[in-house]
Amino acid sequence: MKPAWPEQIQDTCEHDYIASCVSNLKKYKRMKNTVDFYRGGFSSPENETRVIEKSFRTAIRFTITLFCLFTNELNHAQIRLRPLPQDGFEKRLTEFVNELELSDSHEHLMSQESIRNSQMLDFMLLLHHYADDDIKSAGMSKPQFAELLTDEYTVREKWEIVKPYWEASKNTAYNRVVLLAIEKLFGIRELNDQTVEELSWKIKKAYETDWYNHVLREKANIKYVIADIGDRRFDDGMFRYVEKFDRFVRVDSKEDLLAAGESVSMDVNSLDAFVSALEKAFQEAIDRDIVGVKSTAAYHRTLKYEDVSKENARQVFDRLFEPENDLSFEEVKPLQDYMMHRIIQQIRKYGLPFQIHTGFHAGDGNDISNSNPALLANLFLEYRDVNFILFHGSYPYGGELAALAKSFRNVFLDMSWLYIISPSYAKRYLHEWIETVPSNKIMAFGGDYHNVENTYGHALMAREIVARVLIEKVRSGYLTESEAREIARRILFTNIMEIFGIE
Ligand SMILES: [Zn+2]
Repeated sequence: MKPAWPEQIQDTCEHDYIASCVSNLKKYKRMKNTVDFYRGGFSSPENETRVIEKSFRTAIRFTITLFCLFTNELNHAQIRLRPLPQDGFEKRLTEFVNELELSDSHEHLMSQESIRNSQMLDFMLLLHHYADDDIKSAGMSKPQFAELLTDEYTVREKWEIVKPYWEASKNTAYNRVVLLAIEKLFGIRELNDQTVEELSWKIKKAYETDWYNHVLREKANIKYVIADIGDRRFDDGMFRYVEKFDRFVRVDSKEDLLAAGESVSMDVNSLDAFVSALEKAFQEAIDRDIVGVKSTAAYHRTLKYEDVSKENARQVFDRLFEPENDLSFEEVKPLQDYMMHRIIQQIRKYGLPFQIHTGFHAGDGNDISNSNPALLANLFLEYRDVNFILFHGSYPYGGELAALAKSFRNVFLDMSWLYIISPSYAKRYLHEWIETVPSNKIMAFGGDYHNVENTYGHALMAREIVARVLIEKVRSGYLTESEAREIARRILFTNIMEIFGIE
């Protein structure tokens, strides 16, 4: 990572700007002398008007010049807070960040075995998660894409079908990360007619080796992963697990109530029994050593959870339990809200952190306004002893996220998934979050993938952006070089260990 050219240009512009201000000042002095010369008597009325106009223009220019110099000085005073770094800090910081071990706050990895046994053990493995969203956004139908994950077609046939949509969408970061991963892992620079079969063959071969260990440990240098998956066949030294209890919130039919009860072998025919089933589900998860709880309820409803009375919730439960009672979301919401409060009380009882999906949704058909993190503020106030981790940099609500994580001691900020949604947003907001949020509350990497290849590509992007932001912070005099290292270590490694209690 070379020093980014935009800063150099910015510096040049700044110098040019100051030079022009100074030259304006000199001009003013010259003009002032001319005015003084004429002060004794003007040679003609036209001359008098011309001189007055000139003096007026000069006075305005002078005022603007003073304003420019003042604001320029003010800008520097705001950010140039620390001694300037010694030469070579860009290279040193880049190397430091690239060599750090990572803690990964969020993954959905399928096991190596299940991928090996799947029908997408070819180039489609790399397109089936997140890239698929932009390929469909570019126009491919969902059923057509799903067919490409089967062995109904040869690799060449799959490629011919997906190619126009890949070509149309390969500009997005979801798809850039695929190109990065295939270059770094398989030595292939482009995905095209010439490379697609070679890449597919190399993927197949890789899965005959100790591939996960190689990619996660040796290439990505990840030490810990917080996983949101049912599969527990992963390396115990590396993986920790969170679980979801959203099935107790996402209820809008009698079948949903019964299914949630059945998940813990309980009959639920009353609100009390329903809450008991939730408590049993928690106890079982605790016995499986979960380190936290996750909620993705924002995919289905608003994040606003009112504090509902038990009586109100009971009435909704009873109505929902009646057969053929079809309730609207507004009607069922009090019960859902009540159950979310019960979940948080269980989280508090067991002293776990709570990861909450906020901001952008994968797939289509979701209402982004449902997932504005500001909707959660009443929960942060009510449960001040529960640590809430707000996911995905709340894209596009980065400002709201900053305000929440800054205001509430119990609100943490998580950048999982973020660099592949938009590297520019991640960079822009990491700059702002470092200025606003204590560094022990920022978790700067979570791959959020099904497959390790893309997790590795995502980790490379995260390292590059964290390094760039810190370099810019040091260059501007906001941080010293050693402060930047300390922040990098925290946000990429130690914070996750502290927040999830990993020894
Ligand atoms: Zn996820």
